[in-house]
Amino acid sequence: MAPEVVLPKVVGASANPAAPTKPAPTWSRAYVTFVAGKGDSVQGVVGLVKGLRKVKSTYPLVVAVLPDVPVDHQRILKEQGCRVRKIKPVCPQGNQTPFAMADYFINYSKLGVWEFVQYSKMVYLDGSIQDGHFYAVLDCFCERTWSHTPQYAIGYCQQCPDKVQWRDDMGPPPSPYFDDSMFVFEPNLTAYNDLLNTLRTTPPTPFAQQDFLNMYFRHIYKPLPLEYNLPLSMLWHHPEKVDLEEVKVVHYCEAGSKPWMYTWQENTGNMQREGIKIWVKKWWDIYEDKALDYKNWIWRPRKRPGVSTGNLASGPNKRSAM
Ligand SMILES: [Zn+2]
Repeated sequence: MAPEVVLPKVVGASANPAAPTKPAPTWSRAYVTFVAGKGDSVQGVVGLVKGLRKVKSTYPLVVAVLPDVPVDHQRILKEQGCRVRKIKPVCPQGNQTPFAMADYFINYSKLGVWEFVQYSKMVYLDGSIQDGHFYAVLDCFCERTWSHTPQYAIGYCQQCPDKVQWRDDMGPPPSPYFDDSMFVFEPNLTAYNDLLNTLRTTPPTPFAQQDFLNMYFRHIYKPLPLEYNLPLSMLWHHPEKVDLEEVKVVHYCEAGSKPWMYTWQENTGNMQREGIKIWVKKWWDIYEDKALDYKNWIWRPRKRPGVSTGNLASGPNKRSAM
């Protein structure tokens, strides 16, 4: 899901190096992310919006929330200067659950961000339709979540296609495949409706909405450089491809690497690596930096007849515990 991202460097108005010559008005651009349920992802979004403030982003963060996000979580997000927008759940066809992870199902709802047409251009953070293309970073096939695929079985990865060659007897090599946790796009109601209509006749697949977006945008997809969305697993799968000086967005996607869940006692797999600890600490440095809190917000509960709201009044420094 969206929020496990920090931005250690300034990300410009567009992550697309080949941005169109006629820029959209800056007031109508924004970052956007997506939250569902009452889990811990609200903490990730707080870290994300503070990361954006740290790099002095000109653009606001819009948070698309499903109806099941608790009111107090929405309030925490507003207190941190996020623009909270409700979206409707989107469900794939069929009752089978072929997904690589059980909770991938819910991520189809992120298609709702195409409905935010008051913004001319957005960067999804957790991609892109602009000048007729869709921009996102190539995925890596080396994690265990890819174990259902032929590429994982033979050790083929598009990040280093020469290391293990794709065999001719396996059919044509897989098309370029992006990671949809970050993309640049232009909200558009025609595109939104066509996405939903196409979804109705598309059977669900293991990587849920990510497979769907890859299928839908396959003819116009253009890869972005890795530094615009670095999955931490690249640190050990393809260290030769990582230039830490150039990294702009980090994706804490590997199981156990979410900074707000990290215990520092990890003794399994890759979570005890020094590289992981460095990036988890960077996230906490931003998350706990009071100077990066949003300071222009006062909680004003709506008055309803017969309901005392006095004890709900609090300023930004009396937030609910997270
Ligand atoms: Zn790989």
